[in-house]
Amino acid sequence: MKRVLITGAAGFLGSHLCDKFIDEGYYVIGMDNLITGDLKNISHLRSLENFEFIHHDVSKHILLEGNIDYILHFASPASPIDYLKIPIQTLKVGSLGIHNLLGLAKVKKSRLLIASTSEVYGDPLIHPQTEEYFGNVNPIGPRGVYDEAKRFQEAMTMAYHTYHNLETRIVRIFNTYGPRMRLNDGRVLPAFIGQALRGEDITVFGDGNQTRSFCYVDDLIEGIYKLLMSNYALPMNIGNPDEISIGEFAEEIIKLTGTEQKIVYKELPQNDPMQRQPDISKAKQILKWEPKVSRSEGLKITYEYFKSLSYYELHKAEHKDFEKYIVK
Ligand code: UDP
Repeated sequence: MKRVLITGAAGFLGSHLCDKFIDEGYYVIGMDNLITGDLKNISHLRSLENFEFIHHDVSKHILLEGNIDYILHFASPASPIDYLKIPIQTLKVGSLGIHNLLGLAKVKKSRLLIASTSEVYGDPLIHPQTEEYFGNVNPIGPRGVYDEAKRFQEAMTMAYHTYHNLETRIVRIFNTYGPRMRLNDGRVLPAFIGQALRGEDITVFGDGNQTRSFCYVDDLIEGIYKLLMSNYALPMNIGNPDEISIGEFAEEIIKLTGTEQKIVYKELPQNDPMQRQPDISKAKQILKWEPKVSRSEGLKITYEYFKSLSYYELHKAEHKDFEKYIVK
């Protein structure tokens, strides 16, 4: 049985990856320090014989017995509110964490895939973003701790690939949504749906003309799996190019949830990218991959998930933190 190590296993994407690799017949070792992850995301896997959970911070040395065929590094805070709350951990997991995992991959002769991000493009000056674009990032802005950690992580991974012949893969993930997103992570989709479910107004930052392109989680996981199994070592965008403004997105959520609340406008956070859309020509051509789930389909499934959460979970997630997120 092939063995895979998934870091960030109790998080949104990590837990979906665990499901995928279990379905594909792997022995899965999930690792997480639970700083932003939640064990309930993998509770359905814990009694399986081919699943094991290790509570560990990958920024610290990692000792593992046995062979490891694949490593997927998905441990990281991943929302603007998280980076503001835990900036040092965000930097450490992308730097010390990847160094530990690259060392482990070298010893175990594993293939390692890292979760990079569209944030490496910063507030992009070209549109849509191709993998060749170097980005427009403010290293000392509020997002700098995440963006630069991810950029460093790519550099380190390529260095091990080049100098140690390690088999590596780099996926640049664009905005992704689906069940198991954290309701209180401040990201736009859980923020809007949470507000609708609690009967609060919908908070659009800025004038709502900034754009994002949202990918449903199952599509992303399929793209990542295909990239891992390919022989392509350069960074690859995986996302859904269907672009929408945040103002229009708020309208879609209002329609979906039937909330009678209104949109209220708040100040735009510093360095909030004005537009974002992946160019996925490479993924189409090399992986024969493209997203299949439309936003209306994906949003319905995601809304059902959020509706199934308890009253307590919904209200503890009330995020009054967004004022902090607006750094002037
Ligand atoms: N946003 C918003 N209201 C909210 C949360 C976010 O208008 O309550 C905006 C945010 O300013 C950004 C977009 O939605 O322009 C996406 O934000 P998110 O934090 O989900 O991720 P990002 O793509 O910025 O990393």
